Amino acid sequence: MALFKDVKKPIIKAAPTGAEISPLRPVYVPKQPPCGGNCPAGAEIRTWLTAIAQHEAYGRTPEQAYEFAWSKIVERNPFPAVCGRVCPHPCEDGCNRKEKDGAVAINALERFVGDFGIQKALKLSKLSEQKYEERVAVVGAGPAGLSCAYQLARRGYPVTVFEAFAKPGGMLRYGIPRYRLPLDVLDAEIQRITELGVELKCNT
Ligand code: SF4
Repeated sequence: MALFKDVKKPIIKAAPTGAEISPLRPVYVPKQPPCGGNCPAGAEIRTWLTAIAQHEAYGRTPEQAYEFAWSKIVERNPFPAVCGRVCPHPCEDGCNRKEKDGAVAINALERFVGDFGIQKALKLSKLSEQKYEERVAVVGAGPAGLSCAYQLARRGYPVTVFEAFAKPGGMLRYGIPRYRLPLDVLDAEIQRITELGVELKCNT
């Protein structure tokens, strides 16, 4: 992509030096910040970090800022408390501050915000009141299946998730040691998805 565009303006003589002003202007190129670009969940990290770091400037109390940050994270990822514990945080590898004084502790902050959401019993919300008649079946209640079901349910689709095991969670439940991911944290974040209307059928 060209970095400059010709705005087709006549060359102007700038007073008093008489220097010519180029008709070329820089082209604005929107790009992903390196932290968000490295996040597999596509998190808007700068948005929720800024909301916390500059809560006073935005007229929010710290608690209001944490709640706002939580709502921004769950737009893309319904598992902030889980990811705050088990994600290998590639976002921090992309952090520009890494070369200066160390990456921003995004993963630890995500865990804090996720735990705040559980403590305060924050609820996932629908994007609209629209209700579709088409029913959707999702096979597998692992993190991908549950995230898919969540995104469909919040858009108004009736969703049923079919799971072969006795409980939902997939690798989060059966593959990650308890000391890394306590079950009460996992269960709390799954429960929020079912409270949104997602039906779970285990042992199927
Ligand atoms: S720690 Fe969170 S923000 Fe960072 S890459 Fe993982 S899910 Fe994305």
